Amino acid sequence: MPRGNRVSGTYKPDIRAGRLPAEEYAEHFADHVPPLTAGQAVLEASRCLYCFDAPCTQACPTRIDVPSFIRRIAEDNVRGAAATILESNPLGGFCARDCPTEVLCEQVCVRTAQQGRPVAIGRLQRFAVDALLASPHTQLFTRAPASGRQVAVVGAGPAGLACAHALARAGHEVALFDAKPKPGGLNEYGVATYKTAGGYAQREVEWLLGIGGITLRCGWVLADAEQLAALRRQYAAVFLGLGLADTHRLGVAGETLAGVHDAVEFISMLRQAPDPACVPVGRRVLVIGGGMTAVDAAVQAKLLGAQRVDIVYRRGPQQMPASQHEQDLARMRGVRILHWLAPMEVLGEDGSVRAVRFARQRLAAGRLEATGEEETLEADMVLKAIGQRLGNPLLSECGFALRDGRIAVDQAGRTSIAGVWAGGDCIAEGQDLTVDAVAQGLRAARDIDHQLRSGRAPRNE
Ligand SMILES: Cc1cc2nc3c(=O)[nH]c(=O)nc-3n(C[C@H](O)[C@H](O)[C@H](O)COP(=O)(O)OP(=O)(O)OC[C@H]3O[C@@H](n4cnc5c(N)ncnc54)[C@H](O)[C@@H]3O)c2cc1C
Ligand code: SF4
Repeated sequence: MPRGNRVSGTYKPDIRAGRLPAEEYAEHFADHVPPLTAGQAVLEASRCLYCFDAPCTQACPTRIDVPSFIRRIAEDNVRGAAATILESNPLGGFCARDCPTEVLCEQVCVRTAQQGRPVAIGRLQRFAVDALLASPHTQLFTRAPASGRQVAVVGAGPAGLACAHALARAGHEVALFDAKPKPGGLNEYGVATYKTAGGYAQREVEWLLGIGGITLRCGWVLADAEQLAALRRQYAAVFLGLGLADTHRLGVAGETLAGVHDAVEFISMLRQAPDPACVPVGRRVLVIGGGMTAVDAAVQAKLLGAQRVDIVYRRGPQQMPASQHEQDLARMRGVRILHWLAPMEVLGEDGSVRAVRFARQRLAAGRLEATGEEETLEADMVLKAIGQRLGNPLLSECGFALRDGRIAVDQAGRTSIAGVWAGGDCIAEGQDLTVDAVAQGLRAARDIDHQLRSGRAPRNE
């Protein structure tokens, strides 16, 4: 079991930008999975057995017809392959980059049992969509005749974008609002830099808006019940794809010391930086948490030149929410993962973090309990990655029924308020993945379209 050093009293906090030579940044933050060439794609596609009742399709939350699109790649019909993908998932290009395929489609691929490795579904999907976006005619779909109905979509993350695109295709006019200066939600502000190199999030948004019929307004915040009431009066339907705007706190002394940051904010700063070389990072970084955000923050801190990065998780390896693949990636990049340590206090000097004191944990009758042992790990920077939450007082103010602290919806994505649908991370459903948010945005769009066409939704003022 790795042990941390006691605080010696001689170590000076060291947080700074530009730790690496300029050329190393470009290398570190390039695509971590290189795209397939046309030849590699055709060869990989030829490994697919085009299974009947394909398990890979069943494992995809958006039910992409995987064997069909792979067959089209094998037949050199790349545009057709992209059409098959985007028909089911209009954010198929982004999902090809950030989906944990190792626990979704590729986990169940029958080639794994036969040849020890699955067909590279994610990389093939990316190949097809990238080829479409690089072609002169990128739009594949035409809009249905105008319905004369208008829908408001609040939140331009994966859930809102998918919903808006499907509604526009169905002939409705969509007003898409977002609080942030740029659309994309966590695709733009959260997902790791090396999964979405080259400004892909905005390229995809551009393609999505290219369908027409969607008016995007950024810097617009849904902040009170009166605004929601106004949207309900003005639009035939309202979709909320608000994500999770708030994060959990450690709830220990010293949490407000300089050098203690939210991991999502740290990643967002990196994603928005014109150059990773200008993002400050500590020499010794502790990331507290055990999920995908913890892994992404830790790996990126290492890529920025931090000398030592530890992920510290209060439970054991079996309980870590980050997949084995993500954990392996972190270790490969030189990140240590320490288990069974719960933070007790952030220790500081002159207002800055110097170390974190942890209590060792164990499982007793299925519950965590402190063993009585303590460990102190030095740090100049602490990144908190212990989960996000809705944290939006507007929702209780408006009277939404909530479940597990998120918006409760029925099987069609309808909330407890008439004329208001919701999807993505803000609802109590799914695994909080991009692809889940897309699936839930599309589900709501189908139901809204059905309601508008059947005349059950009220006409707007
Ligand atoms: C650091 C990090 C890394 C991740 N990495 C991956 C990954 O590799 N793979 C994966 O599948 N998933 C990953 N996820 C999860 C994935 O990003 C989310 O599940 C997905 O983005 C949820 O989409 P969404 O549309 O529900 O919410 P979001 O993407 O959060 O978008 C919500 C949008 O709503 C806007 N908004 C919020 N409140 C308001 C308001 N009151 N008024 C107006 N606009 C508002 C926000 O500005 C935002 O643009 C990651 C998450 C994090 C935090
Ligand atoms: S399970 Fe594998 S082999 Fe079968 S259709 Fe899907 S990708 Fe092809």
